[in-house]
Amino acid sequence: MNILIVEDHQELASELTDYLSDTGYVCKWVSACEIALEELHSNSYDAMLLDLGLPDGSGFDVLKAVRKAKSKIAVIVITARGELNDKIDGLQLGADDYLTKPFALTELGARLYAVIRRIHGFSVNELEINGFTIQLQDYKVSYGSVAISLTKKEFDIFQYLALNKNRVITRLQLTEHVWGDILEVNSDSNFIDVHVRNLRKKLDKHTKLDWFETVRNVGYRINLEL
Ligand code: CA
Repeated sequence: MNILIVEDHQELASELTDYLSDTGYVCKWVSACEIALEELHSNSYDAMLLDLGLPDGSGFDVLKAVRKAKSKIAVIVITARGELNDKIDGLQLGADDYLTKPFALTELGARLYAVIRRIHGFSVNELEINGFTIQLQDYKVSYGSVAISLTKKEFDIFQYLALNKNRVITRLQLTEHVWGDILEVNSDSNFIDVHVRNLRKKLDKHTKLDWFETVRNVGYRINLEL
């Protein structure tokens, strides 16, 4: 999967590049509209992360050109907090998703994965995690031939940790991903731990879960041999 990162903030761009390269994407970074358009013209990309405020214009111009050319590319627009009009404009112009700065890299990873799946079909349909198979499209989990019945939230948690294997995912990241908006939930409650506990109980019936780690006071990590 080839990703074009259009972002003039160098520090953010290199964080994005590092994270996505680690995850297995091939990344190209450009920092202005004109170079982005040249890149899109001469190379084939599966997805683009598009900042709006660029030194030689607006990311919207790049988005317009891409959609006019009807190229099949997933586009996630990245914008500063609170720019609601940008969001509406962006979606009208054909952005596939939106992220507001600052955002967690893991959240970006999950969103990117989702839009790529939506635009390009389910090229990765299953994840294998230490004997468990997660069927992303069907929201099903099995161990060998045994189906495991999970709630939607348990599934989302397992999938998110699996997609971010070998990384510590904080409770806040999990909450934001599974509930969508952190502001709507009571941050004092330990609901995320409850769902994780229930998930673990269901998985634990099948095999030892020493790879499903609780990182004290921080969050969780699924450890997988690379
Ligand atoms: Ca910018």
